[in-house]
Amino acid sequence: MRDLLVTSWDQKLSCDEAIDVNADPRKRAWVEVSPSAIEINTGIVKGLLKDNCCLMAVVKADGYGHGAEAVAKAALRGGANDLGVATLQEGIQLRQVGVDCPILVLGNLIDSEDLRACLHWKLMPTLSSERQICNCQNIAEGNKEKFIVQLKVDTGMTRLGCELEEALLLINKIIKSNSLALKGVYTHLALADGDINNRQAEYFTNLQQQRFERILKGLDKNNSNEIWFHLANSAGTLRDQKFHYDMVRVGLALYGYSPIDYPFSNLDLKPAMAVKARVTLIRQVPVGVGVSYGHRFVTKRTTRIGVIGIGYADGVSRALSGKISVLNNGVFLPQVGAITMDQLLLDLTDHPEVGVGSVVTLLGQDGEECISPQHWSNLIGSIPWEVLCGFKNRLPRVIV
Ligand SMILES: *Cc1c(COP(=O)(O)O)cnc(C)c1O
Repeated sequence: MRDLLVTSWDQKLSCDEAIDVNADPRKRAWVEVSPSAIEINTGIVKGLLKDNCCLMAVVKADGYGHGAEAVAKAALRGGANDLGVATLQEGIQLRQVGVDCPILVLGNLIDSEDLRACLHWKLMPTLSSERQICNCQNIAEGNKEKFIVQLKVDTGMTRLGCELEEALLLINKIIKSNSLALKGVYTHLALADGDINNRQAEYFTNLQQQRFERILKGLDKNNSNEIWFHLANSAGTLRDQKFHYDMVRVGLALYGYSPIDYPFSNLDLKPAMAVKARVTLIRQVPVGVGVSYGHRFVTKRTTRIGVIGIGYADGVSRALSGKISVLNNGVFLPQVGAITMDQLLLDLTDHPEVGVGSVVTLLGQDGEECISPQHWSNLIGSIPWEVLCGFKNRLPRVIV
């Protein structure tokens, strides 16, 4: 009897295995990524740069949720020179898929093992302290290899970076070391994003630049010629060429969004991401019926409700409940009731053309309309960066 059961179970298993549920990633919900948009945006940003200024494409957090490999390769095709990642693992993953350009690890590595891995994979670590410099020096001497590193200086972000006052000392220490090569010295802007007419932001961004300039002026030109200086993120890059120096580190703009409004609304950046899902069920609900958790939405008429298979576990924040619409062929469909972990609901009463299997766009271009991550982030007090990298890996990335 037991044998029989096992046999039939085995048969059932092998039968199920014959169905490849992963064959079509567009069944439930998915993220479409356009490498050609990334490539075009990279070209647009490159075209804005000061002469001889290089472009680092920032592809941390899995390319802001788009998929790091596709983004990195598209940005390099579009003219990016270097790549920036946040973690050691992100850097190694790019090396493993054959990316061989200079890669800077923007996060802080405290472990000798990690720094040794950097040297092995030819990833540049960001150093913020004398202790890290000594550590890299020891590792390089042990391996009899030159270790290429970058030094970060804090000019007012108050996060990573050495103190402004110790910057020259540390730069000279690295320059004098036979085992280290200083490829770059950089800092990071704290207030450049947002409203370009914000006086405080302008004042502080300029102050950070003046502090950065103080280091440049203190350097001996003879042995600092080869060092790349860089300060600007997307916002700094778009604000003014005076922030460009030898390189800029651009993330958000390459994905198709400007972190500042004026005067770059005519930049023509192309959103590289679209988040889509299918209607999985249609319900006819009478008047006065509560919908979804907490019954936050109660039907005011006979309502045609559509269920779609995407929720906050996929990265559609529950805080957006009842505040967003989705698109179908360029037409907005209102979302109603609480967004749940794996599904959310649409009021389709006025849209009989939408049925089971119809595809809706939650974010991105659909027909003539486009829903931007800024739109979502404004609704929930967040920022577009967080919306973009909030999409979980449960959503397959589909290259289009
Ligand atoms: C993330 C990051 C950037 C890119 O910022 P965007 O605003 O997305 O352009 C640049 N520099 C550093 C140090 C970063 O961490």
